[in-house]
Formats: sequence, structure tokens, C-alpha cells
Amino acid sequence: MLQTLIHYSLHFGLPLIVALVFFKTNWKFAYLLMICGMLIDLDHLLANPIFDPGRCSINFHPLHHYYAVAIYIVMAIFKRTRLLGIGLLIHILADAVDCLLM
Ligand SMILES: [Zn+2]
Repeated sequence: MLQTLIHYSLHFGLPLIVALVFFKTNWKFAYLLMICGMLIDLDHLLANPIFDPGRCSINFHPLHHYYAVAIYIVMAIFKRTRLLGIGLLIHILADAVDCLLM
């Protein structure tokens, strides 16, 4: 229960805080783009079973692999892809915390 709460507050709360603190003028747009980072969970559809509460996503799913994380870091550096990159890194962070709490 507590783990689920931590998971979703990281997934949805952290991007909101980042948007409000660093992108004051257009925080809604920033928040929306960062929430798009959730889309990488579509790679779970490639796994069997699709959802397993006891499985750590990091390094298991292709879009949660270390090489993918390296791409997200590069995306966060460049202005054009920064918001999406940050959103993806927050997503990975939320999933990583999940793995630690398992
Ligand atoms: Zn994920």
C-alpha cells in the first residue's frame, strides 16, 4: 500500500514539482510532456506476463534498460528534448525506487 503510494507520487507528483519550480511560465505544458514519459511502460506489453508486481522493470524491459537511460540523459541535456528526457528519467527513478522497496 505504502509502496504503491510512493510509486504514484513519484510518477505524477515529482514531474509536477519540477514543472512548477523550473518551468513556471508554462508549467502545464512542461508537466504534460513529462507525463508522456509514462509511455515507455508500453514496453511491458512485450513481456510475459505483461505485469508482474514482483519484477523489477529496470534492465528488464527494453525501454528501461541502461542504454535507454543513457539516451534519456542525452535528451535531458538538449533543450528541444529536455522535458521529455527529464520526464523519462523521473519515470526510471520511480521504477528504480520500486525495485529498491521490493
Ligand atoms: Zn516503467
